[in-house]
Amino acid sequence: MVSIDEMFTFCKRKGFVFPNSEIYGGLAGFFDYGPLGVELNNNIKQSWWKSFVQDRDDVVGIDGCIITNQKVWEASGHVEGFEDVLVECKKCHERFRADLLVEDVLGIQADGLKAPAIDKLIADNDIRCTKCKGGLDKASRFNLMFQTQVGPKPTNESVAYLRPETAQLIFTDFKAVTDVSRLKLPFGVAQVGKAFRNEISPRNFLFRCREFEQMEIEYFIRPKQACPFVKSVEMYKVLVYSADMQENKKEPEQMSMKDALARKIIKNDWHAYWLAACHKWFVDLGVNPENLRARQHKKDELAHYSTDCWDLEYNFPFGWKEIEGIADRSDFDLQQHAKHSKKDMSVFDEETKQKVVPHVVAEPSLGVGRSFLVFMYDAYTYDKDRENIVLKLNPRLAPVNVAVLPLLSNKPELLKKSQELYDSIKCCFKCVYDKSGSIGKRYARNDEIGTPYCVTIDFDFLENDDVTIRDRDTTDQKRVKIDDLRNVLFQLLTGIVKFKDLK
Ligand SMILES: [Zn+2]
Repeated sequence: MVSIDEMFTFCKRKGFVFPNSEIYGGLAGFFDYGPLGVELNNNIKQSWWKSFVQDRDDVVGIDGCIITNQKVWEASGHVEGFEDVLVECKKCHERFRADLLVEDVLGIQADGLKAPAIDKLIADNDIRCTKCKGGLDKASRFNLMFQTQVGPKPTNESVAYLRPETAQLIFTDFKAVTDVSRLKLPFGVAQVGKAFRNEISPRNFLFRCREFEQMEIEYFIRPKQACPFVKSVEMYKVLVYSADMQENKKEPEQMSMKDALARKIIKNDWHAYWLAACHKWFVDLGVNPENLRARQHKKDELAHYSTDCWDLEYNFPFGWKEIEGIADRSDFDLQQHAKHSKKDMSVFDEETKQKVVPHVVAEPSLGVGRSFLVFMYDAYTYDKDRENIVLKLNPRLAPVNVAVLPLLSNKPELLKKSQELYDSIKCCFKCVYDKSGSIGKRYARNDEIGTPYCVTIDFDFLENDDVTIRDRDTTDQKRVKIDDLRNVLFQLLTGIVKFKDLK
């Protein structure tokens, strides 16, 4: 597996991701997506939206604002409590996110520890500045929200924040959404959009940025309502790492959702369902399940609103890290907004014939940038025979579906036919037309950016009306009649037909 720095270099070299404002020296924790990266990113978001919103009749979407009334963040608890613990070096004044510093130095889990506990760990273990070995000051609290002003005259009332999570917009729009949709409990509201956190130490490339995108669902139920979908994932297997296994130094265990529920490792059928659904989304898009596991939060890690939380984690070169959190938020947020706004947040439950403030039983919340890294890591392969990187992205995610390549670039007749062919298929697929360099170089270039199929036009085309399709992963080639090409490509790209089964 390549290191995160090597992955960054590759992404930059191929035009997936650039450091933001690099001509001015950049800005830590901010990245821009390049020509290929924006395609991959859009494909990830569209695939998620299709699976979790459009293909379901119990989930609807919204797209809320980044800036919202400051009272939203007072009610949600973010103004008071959305913070990390910071320590500063007394000598060189380098600032560290305290829990990460402690984790790095002691190799223990320190996420969520409060300032006094951090101070004790630093004193007991004589932890020093990793830059200059200077002593560290007392730990202090640091709010992660970016603040701004709305309107021309700064006053206390004009203070606003860039949203640190997309979730709150779903709660503030909750009544508006339920009034206009014919949703019955249980149901979900989904959103994809940007969020901002003034991280003390952004790091690991796209893994921890200050500006990032989230794909989130708030899933609402009547308190204690059973999950009607759990049967559909009963036999689905996930590598499970419970709080108990972590505390007793046991290894994670591969188990079906049915087993996990029967053994009360996963206590809530909704969590089992959403963990499996989110895990399956990655696996269906080509991620090796051995690189995914479900880890339960230990008591001291739980966020202020959460009663139980499971993370889907990926085995990155810098360790197993969270890619998706599935938290139980109970009715905390809706009750907070009801209290602060003095508006009724209940819905009428047709089954019990009563008004009820629904509980959020699961909040699948996934970072787009983290998903991007997962798909890149799982696809990135060095092929010894080809002496080249082959990016084995699922065709549904690949930035380019089909490359159209005339075999030779100096034969006008061939070029004319190739251009016609390209024009006839580009309406259906994301295609590139590439005539520069040897055919071997062009194959290599496309392998490296993950193009699943290359269509090559040679002189036989003029005689037989057929072309060659080359498969990225095997380099196998097959002849296809020009009249069948569009249909064959569609079947290959959607996975209806495998390349090896093509006649
Ligand atoms: Zn220092």
